[in-house]
Amino acid sequence: MTIKPNSVEGRDIAYQMHPNVNLRKYERDGGLVIESGEGIYVTDNNGKRYIEGLAGLWSVALGFGEKRLSDVAKAQMDKLPYYHTFSYKTHGPSVDLAELLIKLAPVPMSKVHFTSSGSEANDLACKMVWYRSNALGKKDKKKIIGRVKGYHGVTIAAGSITGLPRNHESFDLPLDRMIHTSCPSYDHFAKEGESEAQFTARILQDLEDLIEREGADTIAAFWGEPVMGAGGVMVPPDGYWEGVQKILKKHDILLVADEVICGFGRTGTMFACERFNIEPDVLVLSKQISSSYMPLSAILMNDNFYQPIADESDRLGVFGHGYTASGHPVATAVGLENVKIIMERNLVANAKALEEQFLGRLKDLAAHPLAVSSRGVGLLGALELKPFDDGQPGDAAAAAQVACEEEGLIVRNIGEALCFCPPMIITSEQVDDLFDCVARALERVAAARA
Ligand code: PMP
Repeated sequence: MTIKPNSVEGRDIAYQMHPNVNLRKYERDGGLVIESGEGIYVTDNNGKRYIEGLAGLWSVALGFGEKRLSDVAKAQMDKLPYYHTFSYKTHGPSVDLAELLIKLAPVPMSKVHFTSSGSEANDLACKMVWYRSNALGKKDKKKIIGRVKGYHGVTIAAGSITGLPRNHESFDLPLDRMIHTSCPSYDHFAKEGESEAQFTARILQDLEDLIEREGADTIAAFWGEPVMGAGGVMVPPDGYWEGVQKILKKHDILLVADEVICGFGRTGTMFACERFNIEPDVLVLSKQISSSYMPLSAILMNDNFYQPIADESDRLGVFGHGYTASGHPVATAVGLENVKIIMERNLVANAKALEEQFLGRLKDLAAHPLAVSSRGVGLLGALELKPFDDGQPGDAAAAAQVACEEEGLIVRNIGEALCFCPPMIITSEQVDDLFDCVARALERVAAARA
């Protein structure tokens, strides 16, 4: 279809440079224009409706068109549209949300610091780790361990902790201080004949070996998503997090849990740390914190983490970090209302209650001739497809993603997998609708290749 220069699509190509695309392909093909949303659905500018199977970018917990959030945003805009939290100033919405997050935290936390995106939060948490090491006089304890296929954002520090080549290549990343250990995905990285227990023991040994090689005195923190998201939805094997935490404790290495995707019920508990028995020193939250209606993220830290940082700011006279939008009143007001709604409507319990059906439908689809396996937890899942023998890596999942869109379902293809993370307001009937679309999409791909 030719794109008219004066259409939204044409002007988009002319003026906007998009994130996370092949820019030359975008110049040729343009993008899908989404105009509106309601519940778990979005509608494009031709009136076609789609199930949003990834909740936008793993984030719209309450779905689209939640009036209570737009009402709160409007009321806060009218009352105090902007104020900052610099230089001994504060405001009610940021205080209210900080208090609620401390109450909900999966482990005792001391303070909350607000930022606007997952990348910013991880970047700052990294700076705080370094600041704290300096405060403690441990000038050499600065390295950060990330994981292969981990995703923590794209800013310079966060992008360096991320373990995905596409976020490093040609950006001159990662920074030297960031090192990476093995990915805990049995499906992707187990050796021939290796049991899950043997695999877990091997990757824990990899972590021990890395610490041994680098020297524990040079390593400050370990970063991990409880369940990996943007690397392709990978659930760690039993015993993995217990093992990691034992190793980190032994070597006095901090644990930062990145729950930017997992937080606020996605895995069937309020935080995935509860489900996987993780006791982080620092907890990073974003996305479902505000259903992404406003940009917002938060860093929660325990007292052991916070106190040396406060001492250092006292010594220097200031904690020399902050953003114009840190704790933005409209963002924190929307975040507060969003978290209250998640609790009032029991959406965490909804995710848990639908888990069996959600994962069951995925498992059934894994029996399709084009598929290999499925995985997931709560309302987060992936279907691994067989690579086309006559194509490039990822072609099968890319074809299935296009077919899903034709069937009225937006999902994300990552590597050989289709990934699913629908709004948490989804009903049992809608879970069936979603996977019926996937089944039809697989048939379309199979027919096109027959
Ligand atoms: N951490 C995790 C676990 C994420 O999934 C993401 C985003 N997908 C980020 C950090 C980065 O968040 P943002 O895109 O808001 O910078």
